[in-house]
Amino acid sequence: MPLKHYLLTPGPTPVPERIALAMAQPIPHHRAPAFEALFAEVREGLKWLYGTKEDVLTFASSGTGAMEGAIVNFQRAGDEILTVNGGKFGERWGKIGKAYGLKVHELKVEWGKAVEPAAIEQALKEHPGIRGVYLQASESSTGVAHPVREVAALTRGSQAICVVDAVSALGAMPLPMDEWGIDVLITGSQKALMLPPGLAFAAASEKAWKLSAEATLPRFYFDWRREREMQRKNQTAWTPAISLVVGLAEVIRWLREEGLDRVYARHERLAKASRAAMEAIGCRLYAERPVVSLTTVWSPEGVDSDKLVKTLKTKYGVTLVGGQDAAKGKIFRIAHLGYFDDLDIVIAVAAIERALADHGYRAQPLGTGVGAAMRVMQELAEKPAEKAA
Ligand SMILES: *Cc1c(COP(=O)(O)O)cnc(C)c1O
Repeated sequence: MPLKHYLLTPGPTPVPERIALAMAQPIPHHRAPAFEALFAEVREGLKWLYGTKEDVLTFASSGTGAMEGAIVNFQRAGDEILTVNGGKFGERWGKIGKAYGLKVHELKVEWGKAVEPAAIEQALKEHPGIRGVYLQASESSTGVAHPVREVAALTRGSQAICVVDAVSALGAMPLPMDEWGIDVLITGSQKALMLPPGLAFAAASEKAWKLSAEATLPRFYFDWRREREMQRKNQTAWTPAISLVVGLAEVIRWLREEGLDRVYARHERLAKASRAAMEAIGCRLYAERPVVSLTTVWSPEGVDSDKLVKTLKTKYGVTLVGGQDAAKGKIFRIAHLGYFDDLDIVIAVAAIERALADHGYRAQPLGTGVGAAMRVMQELAEKPAEKAA
């Protein structure tokens, strides 16, 4: 049994000690002034993180609760929506829509590929009744970054809102909601925000709030209008996940200290180092347009990725995830979103090289991947002079 354990999955992600300690404090009451002040701080911080002047609402739920809310708060019974299905999470948009009786136009995208904005433009032309385009900024099942900025620009002139699931993207890469014209932006606590699971977040544009006024789908717990009314008073409609909100305040302070540019640069560097490492050992990358949050890799010929993942866990203490559905047994995913730094990637790559060798694959001498990762990190390391500037 390995002595140490390393979690490199696209949710949950490691929680830093500083955040865990903040959450270990005695629990405040959520109707007390101290909590209201803290919630006000969190609300400001979330607006900054989202790049929006709109309210960012906080819910006690997993990310999927915000996905459901992004459907029921904006659509009417029988409305048409367009969903981008290029993986498990894109598929989920369609499932939620159908569960509520919507007419779902699914734009199927081959796994590992990103949606073509032209295909969205075409679908919007063919079905002028579409009231929402639903997609992922980061499709965590394939490691693909969809071109959300371009898609948001396409919906601008139409009645459709652009709804972006950024659960595994927000906090890892820039997604300035107002500047890019994203209408609904949702995320969750357990990915790049370095918290345990349990919080979901959502903001909506003026255009989206107008649609919301006509929405007739049933909703109660996830009634965003009611929630907005309360949260504007630094209250929540229901009992919030108090300890997680306390942790979130600490996360926001941390991100402000590190600076978002540096947070994003760190994610870029880790992504580039991971990709370079995998290519150096002869593994092909799976995502055509890879996101910075995770690196998805084809397991070498003859190596079942599920077995590889098992060896990584049991022999080396490294938890990665394999592929789902079409990619099951074929790919593995190295997540590096949230609380990750250079040497975490060195550990992951070293373990992958050894586990691959255990499974009979060693195209290059051991250490080849680690060396490639280190060279990228050295090249992209923060220069002290730049930090000061
Ligand atoms: C993790 C994740 C979600 C939310 O999943 P939950 O299990 O409900 O928190 C949604 N979309 C994407 C892209 C994700 O990675």
